[in-house]
Amino acid sequence: MAIHWSEAKDQLRQLAAHPQFGLFSDLDGTLAALAPTAEQVRLSPRVLQLLTGLRDELPVVALISGRRVAALHDKVRIPGLVYVGNHGLETLSEDGAAEANPAAAPYRPALDAARKALQAVEGGGAHTEDKGLTLTLHYRQVADPEDFNRRHGDTVRAIAAEQGLEFFTGKMVYELRPPVQMHKGVALRELAGRYGIQAALFLGDDVTDIDGLRAVREMRAAGECDAWGVAVQSPDAPEGLEETADWLASGVADVEDLLAWLLAARRASST
Ligand SMILES: [Mg+2]
Repeated sequence: MAIHWSEAKDQLRQLAAHPQFGLFSDLDGTLAALAPTAEQVRLSPRVLQLLTGLRDELPVVALISGRRVAALHDKVRIPGLVYVGNHGLETLSEDGAAEANPAAAPYRPALDAARKALQAVEGGGAHTEDKGLTLTLHYRQVADPEDFNRRHGDTVRAIAAEQGLEFFTGKMVYELRPPVQMHKGVALRELAGRYGIQAALFLGDDVTDIDGLRAVREMRAAGECDAWGVAVQSPDAPEGLEETADWLASGVADVEDLLAWLLAARRASST
């Protein structure tokens, strides 16, 4: 059973002091509170300041999000962070351009066909966001999201299957993605390898973050990295999230406290 992070300060202090410590985090619902629309999500000045401070101290601070990488960067705009979008299918290159995983490109016609088919369930607050390499159907704004899910979940799943796309659920979203072996766990492992990370912390709050939480456990078990995972609790947290995490944070404000504590511990270790 995962414990609150404040009960694991000895281990967190060791992580923070490791020269090759990397921080990997989701954005929405983890570093910023969810809002009715993705556009309305804002990072607090404090979290921006903490991410900047951690960037200056650590070999890598990476944001791994389901957003398009350009939209992810737009929300944060801190130079020197690593930005990974579309659950790992897209990264931001040094010159600020989006780089797509080439394996995903052939699925654009399938996404177009699925997008058209999804019109059948849109309306009343439900809309499809085209993220270029994936589609997200948002239903947070419909009058009765649970009823929407009961009535349309299987339809959307079938549309994905018809087009050879994979179907995922999240917090009041459905996602349709190319069947490319890529998720937050794969992205995390790749980044850890690329930056020579030997100690790591991953934070997330939703279904797709479970892959990241699983990856840190596997990396730790394999002895390749002293990696740990934090689940951010929320009323609509998905099944399996807390069970897969090592530690818990009670919400976005608590994540800020954790980042502040990590930054202080890092600075204390280097003096
Ligand atoms: Mg999230």
